[in-house]
Formats: sequence, structure tokens, C-alpha cells
Amino acid sequence: MNAPLVSLNELSVHYPLGRRLIGAAPVLKAIDQVSLDIPKGSFFGLVGESGSGKTTLGRAILRAAPISGGHATYCDGEVDYDLGTIGKEQMRDYRKRAQLIFQDPYAALSPRMTVRDIIAEPLEVMGITKTREETDARVREIAAKCRLNLEHLRRFPHAFSGGQRQRISIARALVCGPKFVIADESVAALDVSIQADILNLLKSLQRELHLTFLFISHDLSVVAHVCDYVAVMYLGSIVEVAPTRELFATPRHPYTRALLSAIPSLDPDDTGQAQRLEGEVPSPASPPSGCRFHTRCPVVHDRCRRDIPHLQEADEGTSVACHFWRETLPG
Ligand code: ADP
Ligand code: MG
Repeated sequence: MNAPLVSLNELSVHYPLGRRLIGAAPVLKAIDQVSLDIPKGSFFGLVGESGSGKTTLGRAILRAAPISGGHATYCDGEVDYDLGTIGKEQMRDYRKRAQLIFQDPYAALSPRMTVRDIIAEPLEVMGITKTREETDARVREIAAKCRLNLEHLRRFPHAFSGGQRQRISIARALVCGPKFVIADESVAALDVSIQADILNLLKSLQRELHLTFLFISHDLSVVAHVCDYVAVMYLGSIVEVAPTRELFATPRHPYTRALLSAIPSLDPDDTGQAQRLEGEVPSPASPPSGCRFHTRCPVVHDRCRRDIPHLQEADEGTSVACHFWRETLPG
């Protein structure tokens, strides 16, 4: 494993909920004490059901969500930032280094902007290029890398397909030369065939530009094909981290097994005894005691209702947060 580019140490994002009545003010624990290393140069997957805190985690790393506890650092060999205390000047620099791919740039931007202007905007906002010629050259270069037709740069976005829009989004995120890119549900809205196109594009851009990716998806089958590592989130905490192949071969956390068994094509030996998840995700405003997954866990023990399992090294380069992972491994 390479040295971490981004390192989280017991990072929390808590949102206040209404007014204090008696005692401590109620909070929603969107992220609770997450420790995680994202190795430099990796394509790192983050999966979990909707509401588990994936977007908040990504936003906290970009300093777009408030850090309420713990530490987050970014260290790319050129700079070393503590994201909790980062100053204004450093923040300006960090914004060039860490970027988010928007799901749909047109939803946020004026429909009167051409594709060229949409891609060029970050360069102009951050003052990276000095002249229009320089900006145009940079836009053409990144558009070509994202396999956009250069003819299309003069057009307006409304006529484009979902796949092309996503390419424009990617070009916009990469135009200022970041080292770290967060792709949050970047293929969720696309047809399966176009998903594969975009995933291949992201993967080849990662290699060519030496990027580190945090790839967020609610769909474990999507991360299987592109990610080197996968972290599984449940209700604001990480329950398992593993190299992708290892995670799919030997899922150690009962929640990971449940997510996997929901993908029929990956489970040819499925004899109908797959662990299906019952019930809804509990509210992060009042998470269950002990292990947060205990209310839905098919192999729950008494201890799980009392003691919080911390993420600990298991084997084969994996970490898991379960008191009984060894005992409950099938087969
Ligand atoms: P995911 O991306 O995994 O679907 P999110 O990170 O969007 O999950 O949300 C995690 C939890 O945090 C949810 O319960 C959500 O309602 C809550 N949440 C997210 N952003 C805010 C916010 N700005 N204020 C209050 N609660 C929030
Ligand atoms: Mg999300």
C-alpha cells in the first residue's frame, strides 16, 4: 500500500438538531469517528446504503462539510495540510489539488454557458491561466483527454446525452490539474452500457494523470470493476476496508456480506440462503447502542448490543469492525 494521500483520524461530522432542552444538545452523527487512509495513486471505493454518510465524508475532505471532531490531513509530497486548521491561503491552493466531479454540471450552471465556458470556469475563478489563448489551450487539452469532440466546445449543453454531460463534468473537475478527485455517484444516473464507458474513462485518466480517486457509490457492483480498495460505510462509520478482490472473495463483515448477496450475478452459488437485510437503516440522530449494525445483523450476539466494535486489522490487508467476524465467516 502506498503512503496515504488523505488520512482521516476519528473524523466526525455532527449536525445540530434543533434547540437544547435538557442536557446535551441533540446532534445527527452523519460521520462518527471515521479513521481511514486513502493511499496515493489508488482508486478508492466508498460504498454504503443511501444516508450512510458517504457524501458527507467526501464533503468533509473537501472542507465543504464542517469537521466537528478528529483530524483529516492531505499530503501529496509537495504540501502537507491539516484540513481541520487549514488557513485561507492554503485553502486556495488546496482547491486546485482536490476536486469534486459534479453529477450534472448543467443543473448548477447557466444554460447559456457553452461547454467551453463550463470547462474553463474553474481556471478563470482560480486565476490559473492568464490569457484567453492559454485558457482555450488548456480546455482543448483536457476535453481531448476526456474524449470530448472538440467541435462540441462551442455548443450549449442541453442537447447532450447523459454520458457526454458526465464527460464535461469530468473535464471541468480535471481542468485545473488536481491530484485528488472525488467522484460522488458519478455513474448512478447513467445506463449500464454508458456507465462502463465512464468508468473506463475515469480509470484511464487516473493512470495517465497519476490521480488518486475517491469513488463513492451506493452500488457495490459498480466499484467491483474499477476500485483497488473498498471501504464499506454503515450509519456514519466504516465497517470494513479491504483490497477489492479480497472484499469480494471473503467479505468479513456481516453488512458487507448482505450488500454482496444483493448482487445476484456475483453470487453464482447462491442457494437462496443469502443474507438479506431486513428493515430500514436506523436514524443517525439516535443510532443503536454498541454495534450500529446490530439491529439488522443476522448473526448478532448480546455483546454487540453493548460494546462498540472498532475498526481493526483483520488479515490479508483488511480491516473490519465486528466482534465476531472470525466466528461468523461462512464456510
Ligand atoms: P449518503 O451520501 O451516504 O447518502 P449523506 O452523507 O448524504 O449520505 O447523509 C448522511 C446523513 O447526514 C443523512 O442522515 C443526512 O440526512 C444527514 N445530512 C447530510 N447533510 C446534512 C446537513 N447539511 N444538515 C443536516 N443533516 C445532514
Ligand atoms: Mg450521497
